[in-house]
Amino acid sequence: MAKEILHREVVIIGSGPAGLTAAIYAARADLKPLVIHGPQPGGQLTITTEVENYPGFAEGIQGPALMEQFEEQARRFGTEFLITFVGEVDLSKRPFILQTDEHEIRAETLIVASGASAKWLGIPGEAPAPQGLGGMGVSACATCDGFFFRGKSIVVVGGGDTAMEEANFLTRYASRVTLIHRRDHLRASKIMQDKAFKNPKIDFLWNTEVKEILGTPETGGVTGVRLANLETGEESTFDCEGVFIAIGHKPNTDIFKDWLEMDDVGYIKTAGRSMATNVSGVFACGDAQDSFYRQAVTAAGTGCMAAIDAERYLDNLPVPIASGEEITIEGEIVSADHEQITMPDGEVISNIVEEGEAAVGGD
Ligand code: NDP
Repeated sequence: MAKEILHREVVIIGSGPAGLTAAIYAARADLKPLVIHGPQPGGQLTITTEVENYPGFAEGIQGPALMEQFEEQARRFGTEFLITFVGEVDLSKRPFILQTDEHEIRAETLIVASGASAKWLGIPGEAPAPQGLGGMGVSACATCDGFFFRGKSIVVVGGGDTAMEEANFLTRYASRVTLIHRRDHLRASKIMQDKAFKNPKIDFLWNTEVKEILGTPETGGVTGVRLANLETGEESTFDCEGVFIAIGHKPNTDIFKDWLEMDDVGYIKTAGRSMATNVSGVFACGDAQDSFYRQAVTAAGTGCMAAIDAERYLDNLPVPIASGEEITIEGEIVSADHEQITMPDGEVISNIVEEGEAAVGGD
């Protein structure tokens, strides 16, 4: 069956805080953006509970409710949504081409807001069932799966804020939560550490690595973990009925790796003063691009920046790029000192307004 062809001025991949803020701005600029939802509509906040640090909600707000508000606001100004999966992209020229099973999407500008996904340890027993015990006691989302562990003993792996949050949350259901960390101190922020240390249902196992998740589907899933003490090398088995992996996230940028410059982990590189990538007309924002702040509010902020950059670009205004230069949609490059413009045919002209010229078209 022939694919449906869609051609849009602004296409946004991802519908977390970054993607939807980009959509709100692009829609209000009358650019009729198309948002591609991807596998987790609403992004990571839809699998979290209370968000206490998003400005404007003095009493806090549930993650899913916050994302519903974002989406409603984007829809109000005419954002179009598509639930699909982009399998392949061609960013060699404009319009950029995105392939899904049903559509060929042509984009004059592209905003990558594809976010990040939970990382896994890569140990035996961790893969989704039937290969491993994923979904049968192994999870990376306490909010999604905690309910199934009422009265059970579970372990959480990791030493960051995610691990503390997951461990605290899981004590609502579990009889006991054991936090296993590979070092002797936590990476998590002080407030999150304090909450975990004060929680009487949480124990800590330090300098310990999980080598294998034990159990079988036939015996009801997870029965324990095989551990190694990293100081002594001693191995042991620890009985539990659930394992939550909370060791951070990986940006969802694999489909762009042949086109966009990234760091070693896969975070897309953007220009210092804009959200421009190395491909003119492609912008990146949110957790796909930010390895440092990774907050809903910073993601929303960079989404706003990406939309303003795309808007300027479509208006043929110069957008800053990583080299410090600025580029327009027509391929003119303004030098970092703003003194020269290199035209698409290579001709270099002055960008300095000579005396008297300023009057042309001016007052
Ligand atoms: P982090 O990268 O901060 O922490 C990951 C943790 O997992 C580290 O303790 C790390 O160990 C451990 N780890 C990583 N890889 C492995 C491995 N292969 N085996 C064993 N352990 C491993 O990720 P988070 O997801 O916790 O946090 C990411 C960001 O999101 C942070 O900026 C955080 O502040 C923020 N966040 C904020 C929340 C909030 O404020 N409510 C909630 C959740 C996250 P090591 O320390 O040894 O490197």
